[in-house]
Amino acid sequence: MVSDLSELGNFIDGAFHFPAGPTIDVWEPAVGEVYAQIPDSDAAVVNSAIVAAQTAFPAWAALEAEQRAAYLFQLADALEARLPELAQAESKDTGKPLWLAQSVDIPRAVRNFRFFASALPHFASESHSSQGFLNYTLRQPLGVVACISPWNLPLYLLTWKIAPALAAGNTVVAKPSEITPLTAYLLGEIAIQAGLPAGVLNLVMGSGAKTGSALTADSRIKAVSFTGSTRTGAEIARVVAPKFKKLSLEMGGKNAAIVFADCDYEKTLETLLRAAFSNQGQICLCMSRVLVEASIYDRFKADFVARAQAIQVGDPLLPDSRLGALVSLPHLEKVRSYVDLAIQEGGSVLCGGTPLQMQGRIEKGWYFAPTVLEGLSANCRTNQEEIFGPVVSLMPFESESEAVDVANGTEYGLAATLWTNDHARVMRLSPVLQAGVVWVNCWMERDLRTPFGGVKMSGLGREGGWDSLCFFTEPKNICFAQ
Ligand code: NAD
Repeated sequence: MVSDLSELGNFIDGAFHFPAGPTIDVWEPAVGEVYAQIPDSDAAVVNSAIVAAQTAFPAWAALEAEQRAAYLFQLADALEARLPELAQAESKDTGKPLWLAQSVDIPRAVRNFRFFASALPHFASESHSSQGFLNYTLRQPLGVVACISPWNLPLYLLTWKIAPALAAGNTVVAKPSEITPLTAYLLGEIAIQAGLPAGVLNLVMGSGAKTGSALTADSRIKAVSFTGSTRTGAEIARVVAPKFKKLSLEMGGKNAAIVFADCDYEKTLETLLRAAFSNQGQICLCMSRVLVEASIYDRFKADFVARAQAIQVGDPLLPDSRLGALVSLPHLEKVRSYVDLAIQEGGSVLCGGTPLQMQGRIEKGWYFAPTVLEGLSANCRTNQEEIFGPVVSLMPFESESEAVDVANGTEYGLAATLWTNDHARVMRLSPVLQAGVVWVNCWMERDLRTPFGGVKMSGLGREGGWDSLCFFTEPKNICFAQ
């Protein structure tokens, strides 16, 4: 077992390696200091991971579904046994509050493995019988697949891909974000603890441009499952499309909440504060545009701003800190630049708008005040581009159709929320909202069986339940003369 957390190496063929060569610093956002290095793995390292995964594939794919499921349950148990340590690691690596990593990120990683372990034995394929013929469809694993994840929900999103890929009988080369590699590194230790056969799961560390692109370009990789920015998704699509690999892309968002005067006011306000600022606004599903019916706009604005100002930003280790640090200094500068842009575009800053200078242990950390903007046109850049920070733009609307036009009027289409007690309105609006997910009077409630993903520039394909298992298998139809 490896316990030195200052060198986070690759996990290949069941063992850790730290290759000689360039490294990348890993920062602790809460305190603004480097605490570890990862290798910036090159194509030769990626090759060794792919070879290990190819070698492990036949035996892994040949296991009975229940045997593979048993391994996944063991991974879930081993993760759960180390939950406090993993939550500490996730908080240190991302700057998110420890309580959030304890209650959301790591439990969800455990749940991802349990969910697909219990789904697998029930995963059936179709058969079609006609006079004289029986067609039946095999769903076979693809081979070696790549799983690439972002920094905002590191272990949560990486395991959301690894679990179905392994369940379906594939072997995996996974690349976590170079900004937040720690829990992926620990997942290597957990794979050893859980007795996962060597080579079934490999984790390669490094930058997107070097390690990620070597992985996606390799012809031995049969599918790429990616979550991250739309810009990177487009680059991966450019490389992968001519090779006709299976491709799943979960990308950015500019999600709209539509608040009607007949909503459950208190519940709406509280949930939208969470939806705007959870994880420092660094969730693809955060509601960054809040459209409010004109008749309640002033009241809503006053209450929303007052409560946003009262949100405690602080040391992620303290239970009272509702928000922690942003993930990196460049990201904080990006968020700040969007507030400057909003002012140039004619917007007003109702609260926040600046980084926060903290004291003591966290004085060098990257903290940003919860920020509420108003007075911006629906089409300005601030209301069109993904900021991915604790910044929300309020806009009044007069009619349903105006609200829908504004909500739909971006290139993104990940999620939308509706806040109303008028069921007929829900039935009218839900189908016309251009989003992969519409939450009505709730936010981020995730039933793992449901299709999850975006439309337009937010995504390609769906994850979750059978969608994930279908993505990670190839259907083959057998037509049998009876
Ligand atoms: P990013 O696109 O910069 O990086 C994501 C991953 O891709 C990282 O592991 C990175 O190293 C890798 N990568 C970068 N270039 C690559 C290349 N050329 N080839 C292969 N891999 C490459 O995204 P990020 O900044 O880490 O994450 C934030 C973004 O992720 C936001 O846009 C957010 O909306 C999005 N996101 C989407 C979802 C969703 O489910 N739709 C969930 C979480 C985050």
